[in-house]
Amino acid sequence: VPELPEVETIRGQLEPMVSGRQIVESWAFPSGKFTDARTATGAAIEGIRRRGKYLLGDLDDGRELIVHLGMTGQLRVVEAHDPMAGDVDADSFTRAWWRFDDGDRLVFRDVRRFGRIAVVDAGRYDGLPTLAALGPEPFDPSFTAAGLHAALARSSVRIKTQLLGQRVVAGVGNIYADEALWAAKINPSARTLSRPRAAALHAALIEALSAGLRNRGTTLRDYRGADGEAGSNQHALNCYGRAGKPCRRCGAPLRRKVVDARGTTWCPTCQR
Ligand SMILES: [Zn+2]
Repeated sequence: VPELPEVETIRGQLEPMVSGRQIVESWAFPSGKFTDARTATGAAIEGIRRRGKYLLGDLDDGRELIVHLGMTGQLRVVEAHDPMAGDVDADSFTRAWWRFDDGDRLVFRDVRRFGRIAVVDAGRYDGLPTLAALGPEPFDPSFTAAGLHAALARSSVRIKTQLLGQRVVAGVGNIYADEALWAAKINPSARTLSRPRAAALHAALIEALSAGLRNRGTTLRDYRGADGEAGSNQHALNCYGRAGKPCRRCGAPLRRKVVDARGTTWCPTCQR
């Protein structure tokens, strides 16, 4: 599932390929989750930003083309002269494409269809409540240890569930939440955190996401960059996906449990 490092990797690769290009034709799979894609026809893409796990394409007519990759979404540019270009249309998992004036296409493929495409007036996120309510970006100076402590203290929901909720910090999903909680030695089921422990979690979140960015994302199954390449952060994980293997800090076997319906890996010795 693409989280901040994966989405940011795609953004960085895609931006130079699509910026300044005019969309002359578009197509979408007939589902309300994707049909907005067609309304971008006629506009040019000025740049691509990221907010949390959302990609925000700035259009030159004052609108934004928003893409959420969901579980299995992939974005890539298929050049007009690519011998495989015809496969885009034959592929039953193609959910949308946008054709530029030179015939190249930006293609959105999504096997499981948890992705979403929207075209809205810039900044008008009424129809996208999760995006509208996103917490601070983890690499923004507005994301502070004190702010994280205060935000977590406002709710008695379990810490891991709050991280996944996107309101206390944007862009964290199951992989980086498990990694950060392990690094900060915090039990994923905890409901309250002291100031020092919140500060440890703040630092651990930034480090876990930084590692993911350095390694161009974590590829477990579906994630690929816009260049089609897998990330390598899966080789750097300390906790996520390692249930039954020894904790790299204390040697005890890591365990897996369900926290508010989400599979969670943790060390019962370190993360009390
Ligand atoms: Zn341990």
